[in-house]
Amino acid sequence: MKKEMICIVCPRGCTLTIDTETMAVSGNSCPKGEEYAINETTHPVRTVTSSVRVTNRENVMVSVKTAAPVPKSEMFEVMKRVHAAKAEAPVKIGDVIIKDLYGTDLIATKTIE
Ligand code: SF4
Repeated sequence: MKKEMICIVCPRGCTLTIDTETMAVSGNSCPKGEEYAINETTHPVRTVTSSVRVTNRENVMVSVKTAAPVPKSEMFEVMKRVHAAKAEAPVKIGDVIIKDLYGTDLIATKTIE
């Protein structure tokens, strides 16, 4: 079966086609596109960005992201844990909000004094 996708590795956005049986990739302008198409077909991952409530500040949220991409197949559980998470000020950029979230950490991307 052939599958089409847009490569999101760089702004050029090549249209890739992959044969899901042989893993042969076409349409890529560089080797990164081939790697992207194979990974996207066999083990898709995503970096999660969201925000978490700061419990000791009124109506304040801190923006967060996963330090590395997490499996797309686990996105529901990842978002459940992110939505349940809370932070306490002061929070600095890079502070770990959730440790070991599917092999990476959820970290703050904003400082809250
Ligand atoms: S295949 Fe290469 S050039 Fe094309 S979008 Fe992907 S990274 Fe960019």
